[in-house]
Parts: sequence; C-alpha cells; structure tokens
Amino acid sequence: MDHYSGPITKLIEEFAKLPGIGRKTAQRLAFHVIAMDKDQVKSLSSALIEAKNNITYCTICCNISDKDPCHICSSNHRSDEIICVVEDPRDVAAMERTKEYQGKYHVLHGTISPMDSITPDMLKIKELLSRMSSTDLKEVILATNPTIEGEATAMYIARLIKPFGIRVTRIAHGLPVGADIEYADEVTISKAMENRREII
Ligand SMILES: [Zn+2]
Repeated sequence: MDHYSGPITKLIEEFAKLPGIGRKTAQRLAFHVIAMDKDQVKSLSSALIEAKNNITYCTICCNISDKDPCHICSSNHRSDEIICVVEDPRDVAAMERTKEYQGKYHVLHGTISPMDSITPDMLKIKELLSRMSSTDLKEVILATNPTIEGEATAMYIARLIKPFGIRVTRIAHGLPVGADIEYADEVTISKAMENRREII
C-alpha cells in the first residue's frame, strides 16, 4: 500500500473495513471515487452522514427508523396481536415486500452464537420480553433464519415466552436450511409464514 499517497491509502483502508469488501474491491472503489466529479463525491459523503445522523432505533421494535416509534409501531393499520421476531432490519424489509403480513415486528440484531461470542444479553431479547405484557398480544412468530444459530435462538426465545401464555410459532421450512430470509423471494416468505407451526 505504501506506493499510494496517504489520502488514497486511507480511503482504501476505510472501504476495506466494510463487510464483503476485500482489498482489491476497496482499491477499485477508492480509485473510482478519485475519478468521480467533486459534486458526486460531495453527494455521496453527505448521503453517508445524513443516513447516520437521521437514522435512529425504534425503542419498541428495535428496528432502524427515521423516527421513534417507527412507522410500523405507530401505525393504526397494523395488528398488535402478532409480533414477528427477525434477526435483522433487512428481514423486516424482506417481509414487508410480501405486503401480506399485517402485524408488528421485533428486531433482535443478531442471533445467539457461542462461536462468535454472541450471548443472549447482546441481542434485543430483554426488549422483546418487555412487550409480552401487552394484553392485545396473542402470537409471537419466530422468523429467525433456518440456520443453526437461527434455530437455537428461536428455541431459546420460545422457552422464555411460553410462560406468558402467548402462542409461539416458528416459520415453516419452505426456506432452505442455511438460507437467509433477506434474500428469499416474496412467495417463499409468504409460504413460510403461512405454514408456520406452533412450538410446544
Ligand atoms: Zn418500531
């Protein structure tokens, strides 16, 4: 890296910190930015700062949002009887694309993973449990990914929710094992939701 001037090296290093960006891609992006018009670069950098400054977390569902509570939690058109628990904000976006689910969500921001030293207290489980006292709530759908971590997290949460006397369901295995909800098509997601089964 030494043969690039300082600012370019810094830019490459910043890009390389992003998920899924290897050294080569980081270099390509850095040189692309250098070749861009000044106005384009300004608009890119202000989009980054604006997103960071204006995005917050909904204190109810823990999803990312530009207001708190988010538009789903504050909507009168969404049922308070069902909460769909997902791993990631991108899963909410994937579910919303189906336009079928009319309940609320809860975003865990990860899964329990001893291999990666991710323990239950690092997820938004406490926040989920604080929602269990709602008298309207009838069902919690565990829609974590069908991976080992996703299954283990679903089972862990199911055990915590059961004592509240609320129906706990798990999405069906229409999704292939190891799959990611985020990338599943609308039909697969709809089917997985439709065929959800109760966890006993
Ligand atoms: Zn919310």
